[in-house]
Amino acid sequence: MITGKNYIGNILSAEGTTKFTTFNPLENKENEWTFTEASTEEINEACELAAKAFKKYSRASGTKKAEFLRAIADEIESLGDHLLEVYSLESGLPNGRAAGERGRTLGQLRSFANHLEEGTWVEASIDTAKPDRQPMPKVDLRKMNVALGPVVVFGASNFPLAFSTAGGDAAAALAAGCPIIVKSHPMHAGTGELVASAILEAATKTGMPNGVFSNLNSNGIEVGQQLVKNSFIKAVAFTGSLKGGRALYDLAATREEPIPVFAEMGSINPVIILPKALENRAKVIGETYAGSITLGTGQFCTNPGLILAIKSDGLTEFVTSLSSQILKIDASCMLHPNIADAYEKNKKKALYQNRVQVLAENSNNVKPNFAKQVVATVRGDTFLENPTLHHEIFGPYSLVVQCKSINQLEKIVSKLEGQLTGTVISDENEVDNYITLIHELENRVGRIIFNGVPTGVEVCASMLHGGPYPASTDSRFTAVGVDSIKRFVRPFSYQDWPNNLLPAELQNKNPLGILRNVDGEKTTKAI
Ligand code: NAP
Repeated sequence: MITGKNYIGNILSAEGTTKFTTFNPLENKENEWTFTEASTEEINEACELAAKAFKKYSRASGTKKAEFLRAIADEIESLGDHLLEVYSLESGLPNGRAAGERGRTLGQLRSFANHLEEGTWVEASIDTAKPDRQPMPKVDLRKMNVALGPVVVFGASNFPLAFSTAGGDAAAALAAGCPIIVKSHPMHAGTGELVASAILEAATKTGMPNGVFSNLNSNGIEVGQQLVKNSFIKAVAFTGSLKGGRALYDLAATREEPIPVFAEMGSINPVIILPKALENRAKVIGETYAGSITLGTGQFCTNPGLILAIKSDGLTEFVTSLSSQILKIDASCMLHPNIADAYEKNKKKALYQNRVQVLAENSNNVKPNFAKQVVATVRGDTFLENPTLHHEIFGPYSLVVQCKSINQLEKIVSKLEGQLTGTVISDENEVDNYITLIHELENRVGRIIFNGVPTGVEVCASMLHGGPYPASTDSRFTAVGVDSIKRFVRPFSYQDWPNNLLPAELQNKNPLGILRNVDGEKTTKAI
């Protein structure tokens, strides 16, 4: 049931005075539920409770945490179709997308459970003592990853399930042994509350300490700011705009004790189409990209917002194909009127820049909150001179940059801001002739794609979803896949510590049977 209240640990609370509703963008009307924004007292209470829970939860075994994560997945599943209905009412996204995103969310939780049971994520490293070593005896040192502390997770507007209350960031932090406080996204506070109730049910059933999870409503930036400033909080996970992510990063850095902010802030995901590929299959590439640009109304952080190629007849054919194909696609609904307004504003700003030419724009009358897709084009030198054209436009928009030479193309790639992805469209061996260009691209992105589209992020261990700033605030980490747990741990060493007081992962007998690095050798053997 949606109560509109905050969860401070397992207690429902609504002490604040600010009320708000969520919005159905398809019907262009407010939803029926009223939410109460968390008060300062409630925020402080949730943080203090999380710090108390940390003492117990950070020491829970991998098996116990895995049980908790699997129970969360089961409880979310048992919310049934009601969850999907609320999701669609609060986002305008269709039922199929809701079901797919729920599947991804459950899959993420369960894959972290498997990861915990497998156990190598702690990266146990043991250097045994050598008392007879000359000229000095060598001490016994044992190192493993331990939980960082309470984490604030900001729900993302564009993934109400998979990157929100029990999404990738939440699952990773809980798997690491960190209690979490979710700053619910105001656009889908009802979806968030339903998932929060499932998490708390799972926590009770699996005997987790109160405070391992809290869910706070907000309708403005103050709740998030107070959470980031709270001294009990030790890390932050965020997905959203560059403006929001950067503000939180700066805020965390000015604390007396600075803390890491892992912000994933999107990008324009450059796509390079090489000359032979254009010569041989410009039409098909145009059709494929019309689909990718408009997928999910362009509201993916991996949306291809920039297409780069060298001028040729093939490029002209590609532009014709992309333009005609994109106009065949129906306009679709954006997540919220604010997102739709931001799209219109940012799109207009880009299209008004000098020497930007519109190739195709949906000119139909569309329902409120629906996005009119557009593709535009510009010359390479104009793109290089104008930083406005390098910014993300969140929605079904893409800019084709027509370069005069390979040198200009390389220069553009080298000047790009950090990106989540870069894509290369090539004929079979064509790419071999563009190694310098590819190396430039590799320096600017977190993931490089060959002959595909950037939209669609596979959730698996080898995925890297992140990239050089501003794609993310720390390019050493991924926000997707089990390695995302590494954001919420710190390495910790025990020196000459009594064997029976060591965590199981580091004890001589290796009771968990995990793979460890012992005196330089990877082994599961006991010492
Ligand atoms: P947002 O503006 O970045 O907000 C995300 C969350 O952070 C919200 O819950 C917001 O709180 C909070 N927040 C924002 N600025 C803050 C600040 N200075 N201090 C503390 N908290 C702050 O993103 P959004 O609302 O989801 O969407 C707005 C725009 O962000 C979109 O139009 C799009 O351009 C971009 N976006 C990009 C991606 C991507 O993956 N590339 C994903 C989502 C959004 P309140 O809402 O409570 O104010």
